[in-house]
Order: sequence, then structure tokens, then C-alpha cells
Amino acid sequence: ADIGVLKQLTEHTMILENTCDEDFRKFIAWITASVKSQSKSVSDVPTDNAYLAKIDETVLSLIKDVRDLRQADPDYVILTGRCQRTRLPYLMKYERNIQVVKLQDFAMDVTQYMLSGCYPVGDEYFEWSDSASTQLKVNTNELMGTPGCPNCGNISAFGMCQCGGIMCLNEPGKAVCPWCEKEVVFMAGKTGEEGFDVNRARG
Ligand SMILES: [Zn+2]
Ligand SMILES: [Zn+2]
Repeated sequence: ADIGVLKQLTEHTMILENTCDEDFRKFIAWITASVKSQSKSVSDVPTDNAYLAKIDETVLSLIKDVRDLRQADPDYVILTGRCQRTRLPYLMKYERNIQVVKLQDFAMDVTQYMLSGCYPVGDEYFEWSDSASTQLKVNTNELMGTPGCPNCGNISAFGMCQCGGIMCLNEPGKAVCPWCEKEVVFMAGKTGEEGFDVNRARG
């Protein structure tokens, strides 16, 4: 959700840290306590302010600064593309996978992201999403797997225009970017070549 918009509606914008049973139980108890205190106060003193019960900070945290939420989720990479033919958006989701690389003298952890799915979405995706998060980048060398386009069936959902927009494509050659409307010429990348940076979405 776009926390910036929620913050315009109320200063009481919160985030549930974990979603285990115990935390969820505490969360419900907290809502109940808040509703109770609100019911009492409305009859006593007419006011526009909501009275919230004291927050259990092990479960909930009050969002004080929207910028706190601008980091990427380290466990997932989510990329937003647009179909070249239908122009509809889609999301590509990659999940983190740590591989231990052992060389003769040392071992090190290498983070890679494995493709876990590619999903068609509607244009309302952009209304519900925080656009500021597109400052986040990931290098294609860290991503494993390329999905096909879930909207039109093109072989690759992973072509990138100079404007930074991701689009689907079937083969190298000319195409019109559904993001910037300019004509682009695609060439296949070579194996072993350096990757390029792509913009991450928050999903
Ligand atoms: Zn497509
Ligand atoms: Zn473009």
C-alpha cells in the first residue's frame, strides 16, 4: 500500500511486523481495546480524535516517517513490466536463494534471486503502489530465470527500454516501448556479459 496516502488520512498508520498466530492474536486484542476506549470517549467528550489503546511494540509499530519504508524487501525482487501487444502490466517475482560458493581457499555466500512467478495485473496496480520505490535497483546478474509474458505469450517478459521500462518481446528487432512510446531495437545479451541494472517495485 502507498503509506504516503494512508498518512494523509490519519496519523495513526501502523505496520504489523509479523503475521504469526500469537502476534495476530495480540493485534486483535489491541483493536478490541481501542474500540472499547473509543466507544466510551465518544459518549463522554465529543471529539474528532481517535483514542487508541497503548501499542504493544513487539507486534505493531507506528510509522513515523514514510522514508523508513523505502528500503527493498531483502527476500524478494519484484519487477513491473508491460506487455508490448496488450500494454497491460505484469509483475515478475524472484525469491532470494543463498548459495555457498566454495573455492580452494575460501567459501562465500552469494545471494541470487530465483524466478518464482510472473503475474498479469491491471492498471490499478499503479494507483495502489508506492511509485517512489522505483529508485531501487537490482542487477540482472543476480536474477535467475526469465518468464514468458503472462498477457500475450511472448517468449520473454524481460526486455528493457532505455527509459528503464521493462516490456515483453519475442525476438530481437524493433518494437515500440509501451512505457515511453519510443521505438527500440532489441539485441540479445551475450552469456558472460555484465548485467544491467533494473528498477525494483514493491509488489
Ligand atoms: Zn506480452
Ligand atoms: Zn521506453
